[in-house]
Amino acid sequence: MNEREAALRRAAELGLDYLAGLDERHVGARADATAIAQRIGGLLPEAGTDAVSVVEELAGAADPGIVASVGPRYFGFVIGGALPAAAATDWLVGAWGQNAALHALSPAAAAAEQVAGRWMLELLGLPADASVGLPTGAGLGNAIGLAAGRHAVLARAGWDVEAHGLYGAPEITVLIGEEAHATVLTALQYLGLGRDRVVRVPTDDQGRIRADSAAAALAAVDGPLIAVLQAGNVNTGAFDPVDEIADAVADHPNTWIHVDGAFGLWAAVSPSLRHLVEGVDRADSWSTDAHKWLNVGYDCGFVAVRDAEAHRAAMSASASYLMRSEQRENWEWTLDSSRRARGFVLYAAIRSLGREGVQALVERCCMLARRMADRLRDAEGVEVLNDVVLNQVMVRFGGSDERTREVIAAVQADGTAWMGGTTWKGVAAMRISVSNWSTTEADADRTVDAILRCAASA
Ligand SMILES: *Cc1c(COP(=O)(O)O)cnc(C)c1O
Repeated sequence: MNEREAALRRAAELGLDYLAGLDERHVGARADATAIAQRIGGLLPEAGTDAVSVVEELAGAADPGIVASVGPRYFGFVIGGALPAAAATDWLVGAWGQNAALHALSPAAAAAEQVAGRWMLELLGLPADASVGLPTGAGLGNAIGLAAGRHAVLARAGWDVEAHGLYGAPEITVLIGEEAHATVLTALQYLGLGRDRVVRVPTDDQGRIRADSAAAALAAVDGPLIAVLQAGNVNTGAFDPVDEIADAVADHPNTWIHVDGAFGLWAAVSPSLRHLVEGVDRADSWSTDAHKWLNVGYDCGFVAVRDAEAHRAAMSASASYLMRSEQRENWEWTLDSSRRARGFVLYAAIRSLGREGVQALVERCCMLARRMADRLRDAEGVEVLNDVVLNQVMVRFGGSDERTREVIAAVQADGTAWMGGTTWKGVAAMRISVSNWSTTEADADRTVDAILRCAASA
């Protein structure tokens, strides 16, 4: 066996061993970055090391700092695992090593994005002729959607923002909710629209933009307008009233609505959840993640734009660029040029589940979130703070911030499951996000048992 083959086979073995041990593994990390850096660090090596040893030593040394977030009892942030077909395809993509920027570099990668992009639009109930891009995640998807919006509203006002920048441009009013995700603010920061010069609309107890406040704020707007709405709040899972706000926005002549639906947009795949995304198809751009709820593994975001020309104008270099062909070029729809071929993995995930499988995955996670919330709500001294409309649950213990933080720390140290904390409307809470394809009822029950056991002894 040559060195390459030996190293790849060893990596596959180590990966499979890791996955086989997931169910019993301590879910959170057992060492921090400083400790891991001590294990793997040292001086820049002068001489090389054979590939098999590099892989083995790294796997051993990194192990305590590996978080079992692909496993069934990781409920932190909003984190997806990796479906079997997606994980396997990802390994193959590593071997293929395609640069997905251009058709000329990989016709197969171009084809995978085209097909997967079309399937995504259909799954999510978005216009079939929208343009699509595969950024690293929904955060950069927000930046892309807003860049397309910036292009469009300024073009209508007679200004070429790509050529002339924002100096001297007509002012754009940007309207966002108080609960907009942090990446919406960074997108505004990248685009010269400013984090602080936005109109922030108040939200209700679930974190939804108040439609009456939005209408009042919109009444004062004159000139180009970009409104950023949210489908799926990271804490509560709640949705902004997109339909109502779209009605109010429709009175303005020059507007753009962007929807940040990193995980919430997936409600569209389920007839029983679809009411939550009512009106979302009236927006101009949408950002979501495949690496969260679709469980493609990291990384894969998805952005779609109704006006393909605005999308391309905002993202691409000069039209005379020498590699431009008659084909759709992947790099014209995202901020990257060279990048990995994540389209293959997205394709594999959708193909392995089919529409029915995606629906079942989303509905199962929501069912498990309700199951966990119901048991927790029934327990003494435990309060569920949100309406569990999707896959997110917020829990508070003993009516106290201190006690809530103690329970979160105890659960993390226990290792049966992992969940993080948040602050919701001024009070501390534990966040549970059920987003993994492999989580079962038994995992949900075992996790609630662990939470209640930790709460009793913390
Ligand atoms: C996770 C999330 C994002 C950012 O997505 P990344 O995949 O981290 O880029 C943006 N908005 C919402 C609502 C999210 O939940």
